Amino acid sequence: MTEIEFIEPFQLSFKKLFDAFERKEIGFISIKTENSKIWLPVKYDEGDQIEDIDFLDLFPEVMLVLYSWGIPALNFIAEVVAYIKKKRGDLKNLKNIDHSICQKCGGMCCKNTGCYFSIRDFDEISFDSLYSLLSKGYTSISPISNVLTGLEDSLLLKIRNINDPIIITQELPPSQCILLGPNGCTLKDKERPYGGSALIPMDNSTCIIGYTLREAVEEWAPYQELLIKLARTFVTKDVQFKGID
Ligand code: SF4
Ligand code: SF4
Repeated sequence: MTEIEFIEPFQLSFKKLFDAFERKEIGFISIKTENSKIWLPVKYDEGDQIEDIDFLDLFPEVMLVLYSWGIPALNFIAEVVAYIKKKRGDLKNLKNIDHSICQKCGGMCCKNTGCYFSIRDFDEISFDSLYSLLSKGYTSISPISNVLTGLEDSLLLKIRNINDPIIITQELPPSQCILLGPNGCTLKDKERPYGGSALIPMDNSTCIIGYTLREAVEEWAPYQELLIKLARTFVTKDVQFKGID
């Protein structure tokens, strides 16, 4: 991209952003600051559609653009960019688990929410196996709107957040993963849900999402009836977390 032309914020959806990228109407640039990396959609003209640009020179203008999008929209844009980058193969040589980086950070991602399970985390996916998992009190079933993925409204399994119920039926504020301990994740690396183990830790909190909601919803599509049945079973139960064993 030669000249940067920012786009006025609009009502975001996965489909709108992804389709505009596929039609080459928009590209994405990253704003790198000392302790974050933020992706913004811009009008596309030529060159790579996804570019890392140091924007410190234009800081006041960039600040205004960031402010006008707002944090939830910026997090969502980063999710769509991660999906596109993964699809292009841009993430395949990056390291997934790096304790030295995460120790310095102190688990910022895990302080916002628990990570999502992939179907690859299970040897068996059945009513009985997931009933047993949910009964342990550290897993939630969470709804994901089609707006976020461009697919159907869906249910996903994730690690429960502190103060969240087992079955999430309304939008809740971010809160810490129930398995985040004083020294980081209380699960061994191999036991972490794929959403946690696929994260790509980077210095200065510029980490990359390795398992996007779009991928999760695609994978869990064949299990939606099972998750609905489990949600109905657990919605009135008060399940306490008593440890991971
Ligand atoms: S993945 Fe990133 S945000 Fe999460 S704990 Fe590691 S460094 Fe921090
Ligand atoms: S399970 Fe572990 S990696 Fe996943 S959010 Fe919780 S603390 Fe983080």
